[in-house]
Amino acid sequence: MQPLTNRSKVVVKKQMTFMERLYIPAILGGMRITLQHFFKKKVTINYPEVKRDFAPVYRGKHVLKRDENGAERCTACGLCAVACPAEAITMVAAERNNGEEKLYREEKYASVYEINMLRCIFCGLCEEACPKEAIFLTDELVPTTFKRAEYIYGKDRLVEPTDKRVDVSKRQTKEVLKFKEDKSLQHNRL
Ligand code: SF4
Ligand code: SF4
Repeated sequence: MQPLTNRSKVVVKKQMTFMERLYIPAILGGMRITLQHFFKKKVTINYPEVKRDFAPVYRGKHVLKRDENGAERCTACGLCAVACPAEAITMVAAERNNGEEKLYREEKYASVYEINMLRCIFCGLCEEACPKEAIFLTDELVPTTFKRAEYIYGKDRLVEPTDKRVDVSKRQTKEVLKFKEDKSLQHNRL
């Protein structure tokens, strides 16, 4: 048969030596490595009983923030959804009615806001894209479940509770705040 390339290589099956055929040196070598690791400090932890400390910049479950008066900051501009490389965010925008100023900060808000945690890669681009400081990633883990539908997080699980504010100061570094104040950037003018 005609070879596809000229890089073919003839493989010769090497005969095993007497020592190799005994297998004992290989078994002893393997046991030596096992014993070496047996007495070393373990790198595994008994999760979930024991939890590892996260890095200050760890990116976990998202939170949709409220402003200082408790109104939702998100204005359903869609920039987070556009920035998301995993297409994990969907939303439905709605107009704020008279009398709802205490609920929603802007004239437009997200009546539906969903993140598919199975698609999300926790890259943080939604947070970077948001001009309203409305979405942040926290150091909370997304709990595992066997049902796919339970990974679709809606506003009920994303919007921060009024009585239990989520501290996101670790994610608002000086550099990030400076970047977001730069009005020469289109998305900071929204
Ligand atoms: S963290 Fe990344 S992947 Fe997840 S929703 Fe935000 S932009 Fe999308
Ligand atoms: S970018 Fe911010 S304000 Fe715009 S839809 Fe996303 S979370 Fe809401």
